[in-house]
Amino acid sequence: MLSKGFYRMASSITPVSSQRASELASNLAGIKDRVASAAAQAGQTGPRLVAVSKLKPAEDILWLHSSEHQDHFGENYVQELVDKAARLPDSIQWHFIGTLQTAKCKTLAQIPNLYAVETVEAEKRAKKLNDNRPDGFPKLNVFVQVNTSGEAEKSGVTGNEAVELAKYIVTECPRLRFKGLMTIGSKSQSEAAADGIANQDFKNLVEIRDKIETQLRLTGLELSMGMSEDFEDAIRQGSTNVRVGSSIFGARALKDAS
Ligand SMILES: *Cc1c(COP(=O)(O)O)cnc(C)c1O
Repeated sequence: MLSKGFYRMASSITPVSSQRASELASNLAGIKDRVASAAAQAGQTGPRLVAVSKLKPAEDILWLHSSEHQDHFGENYVQELVDKAARLPDSIQWHFIGTLQTAKCKTLAQIPNLYAVETVEAEKRAKKLNDNRPDGFPKLNVFVQVNTSGEAEKSGVTGNEAVELAKYIVTECPRLRFKGLMTIGSKSQSEAAADGIANQDFKNLVEIRDKIETQLRLTGLELSMGMSEDFEDAIRQGSTNVRVGSSIFGARALKDAS
């Protein structure tokens, strides 16, 4: 268990400069407008905007959260997420969107304000998250990551595996809530959609979601799809959770390979 006082308020975080504050505010406002108009076109209300803050400083996050009411943030690296969660307000809703390793599942499950792990792709790791979610914590939302493009370098399960993994989570993991499916998709499909053709990877995810809802008799499963380059297309194709990083925070340093 975590020691008392682990989740303290953000006392030691330097405020952002006024220049950085106005840059972040205008980037975020622009993205929110684009999310809202894509949602209006799709006839849906309020897809969730996850601000992907990997490799970006805690002060940017604190400012967006406390001044701009941005609650959902996404991180790719467990240690970076743990450090940020410890320093920042626990009203933040964290999403883990990086590659999931079995050895890190326990650490993740013990973060009380971890809203979701979006990258579950094996029973073993679902079980680890479930078994290590402490008593009294809210259920941990999980998305099953699907490799819709079939690219070797992308992680995630196939459509058929997604049905089985969803069934396992629903029946065997009482401390997890099966929330839906997540995908990244290929760059080529993202570019095709930008030219007005439907993104086939996003279409695949919709079909797999429908199949799971039918087979497991579930309703309201979510779709996490869409990043800076393709979130509007993703929303038009049914995304309920977009993950936008560089368009809010600016370009990242090179550690990130995605
Ligand atoms: C980094 C990352 C994002 C955000 O990407 P941007 O292109 O910066 O918007 C979204 N999803 C995942 C899984 C990521 O790793």
